Amino acid sequence: MLEIKILEKNKEKIRFTIDDINSALAGELRRIMISGIPTMAIEWVDFVKNDSVLWDEIIASRLGLIPLVYDAKFYNFKNDCKCDGKGCTHCQVSFKLKKKGPCMVYAGDMVPSDEKMKPFYEKILIVELTEGQEIEFEAFAQLGLGKEHAKWQAAVVGYRNIPKITIGKDGDNEEYEKRCPRHVFVFEDKKLKVSKLLDCNLCLQCMELSNGVVKVEPDETNYVFNVETACGLKPEEIVSRAIDIVEEKLDEFSKDLRKLK
Ligand SMILES: [Zn+2]
Repeated sequence: MLEIKILEKNKEKIRFTIDDINSALAGELRRIMISGIPTMAIEWVDFVKNDSVLWDEIIASRLGLIPLVYDAKFYNFKNDCKCDGKGCTHCQVSFKLKKKGPCMVYAGDMVPSDEKMKPFYEKILIVELTEGQEIEFEAFAQLGLGKEHAKWQAAVVGYRNIPKITIGKDGDNEEYEKRCPRHVFVFEDKKLKVSKLLDCNLCLQCMELSNGVVKVEPDETNYVFNVETACGLKPEEIVSRAIDIVEEKLDEFSKDLRKLK
């Protein structure tokens, strides 16, 4: 079981640490969060009318990039659905839009066939219509993976090792606190202590300054992740889905290993 500790989170981002994993697993977790979690995006558009200055293809590709909020457990991949890929309420959601200028057309103007689904941001601009211009279309969203197309990318993810700092004998020097550009140390009661470990960016200035009495090294088994959602899922949903997927893979792997014995 992978253990994570949340450092901060809001509607769009989450920052967390994860212990006792190796670099391969950390890389795998990142890859899954980016391109291995099914997300909803608009895949095709039927235009009834488009008098705007933008071509149908440009509007369709803009629509594809609108992050959609949806119930992650409800939908199937179209090809795996009981409808055999024809498109039904379990694998497809339609968005209808009809507007006449002058006006701005926003993502929030689209009317979904499933009320639970909506754009993550209402105010994403689709196109501007001038006097008399009209637009009418029906767009269809379906599940996909980021590895098929960037519009299904679930998140933007960065990660790094958490540093390990050891303060050796004679390391209690106020200078090291003052010279650390990230203010990682505090000097209290004539003692040097690490107070903000996660702010350390391994610049190693303290190590040079102290001739190695203060030792900083990357901890190869502890990582800090920054995850920013790029789809309609909450950042914490992305993390927990990715962990489930990693754990399923590990389970399958160990079953395969047992078969080999
Ligand atoms: Zn279906």
